[in-house]
Amino acid sequence: MGTNIQKVAVIGTGFLGTQIAILSACFGYTVSAYDIDDRSFNRALQNIKGLIKISKRKPTFPGDDWEKNVTKVRLCKDPEEAVQGADLVIEAAPENLELKRKIFEELDDRAPQRALLATNSSSIPISRIESVTDKPERCLNLHFYNLATGVNMVDILGGRRTATEIIETAKAWVRSVGCVPLTVKKEILGFCFNRIWRTVKREALHMWAGGFVDFQDIDRAWMIAHETPQGPFALMDSIGLDVVYDIEMIYYNESKDSRDYPPEALKTMVDRKELGMKTGKGFYIYPDPAYSKPDFLK
Ligand code: NAD
Repeated sequence: MGTNIQKVAVIGTGFLGTQIAILSACFGYTVSAYDIDDRSFNRALQNIKGLIKISKRKPTFPGDDWEKNVTKVRLCKDPEEAVQGADLVIEAAPENLELKRKIFEELDDRAPQRALLATNSSSIPISRIESVTDKPERCLNLHFYNLATGVNMVDILGGRRTATEIIETAKAWVRSVGCVPLTVKKEILGFCFNRIWRTVKREALHMWAGGFVDFQDIDRAWMIAHETPQGPFALMDSIGLDVVYDIEMIYYNESKDSRDYPPEALKTMVDRKELGMKTGKGFYIYPDPAYSKPDFLK
C-alpha cells in the first residue's frame, strides 16, 4: 500500500501548482505537469519571482540557484501524459468542488493504481471528492502554503477511507521536500493554520469594507505586532483575490451565516480583474507595492 514516491505529477500549474512542481524538482523528484492553459506555468513563475523579491524571506526551494530546476518540470500537452508513471498526483486547479471532482474522476482512470491522489484545495476536504474514484483509500488532502515566501508547512488530511499507510507515506514525502507535515486528525473546514488565518482574513475584510480602518493600517498593525514583511491584505494580494473570494464563499455555503459572506467590495475588485499580484493590481499596485517600501511603517 505504501508507495515509493519517485515521480510527482501536478495538475494545474497556476500560482500554487507551479510552486509545488518546482519544489518537487528542486528536491530531486521527477516532475511532470499539466494545465488547460499552456501559458499558465510561465505566468505563475513570473509572479513567484516577483513575490520572492518583495517578501524578503527565503523561499522553501533549496539553493540560490533554484531557478535552474524549473526546466526539470516537464510540461505536458495532455493530462494523460502528465500522470503516466506518477507515484503521487497533486491537483492544484481552481477552488471549485465540481471541477475538482471531475479532475479526480479522470485521474482515477489515468493515474497508475499505486499513485496517491492528492488535492491542494485550501478548504474542500477530500471526503467530498473521493467518492468519484475507485480508490478512496489512496485519496487525501495535501495542502501547501506559499512556498515562495518560505512557508514550509503542509496540512495532511485523510478522507473517510484513506489508509493509514497512505498518510504515513505522504508525511514522509512532505518531510523529504523540506516541509513540516501538519496532521489534521478530524475533518474541519480550513484544516490547520488556514482555519486560523481565515478568521483573521474575514475580520480584516469586514473592517476594511465597513469603512472602519484603512487596509494599509490593518497591514501595518499586523506587520509591527508579528514582525512580518506582509500584513493580511498584502497576503491576500499574493494569494489572488479570486481565490480568496472563492474560499470565503465555501465558508459561507457551509455555515449560511451572513457574517461569513464576503463583502461586496471584494466581489467588485474580482469582477474588475483586480486580483492582486497576478494582475498587477489588488489592494496594492505591483511590482513595487507600498508595503515593501521602507517608509510604510513610519
Ligand atoms: P490559480 O488560479 O493560480 O491556478 C489554477 C490553475 O488551474 C490555472 O492555471 C488554470 O488554468 C488551471 N486549470 C483550470 N482547470 C483545469 C483543469 N481542468 N485541468 C488542469 N488545470 C486546470 O490558482 P492557485 O492559487 O494556484 O490555487 C489552486 C489551488 O490551490 C486551489 O484549490 C487553492 O485553493 C489552492 N491553494 C491556493 C493557495 C494560494 O495562495 N493561492 C494556497 C494554498 C492552496
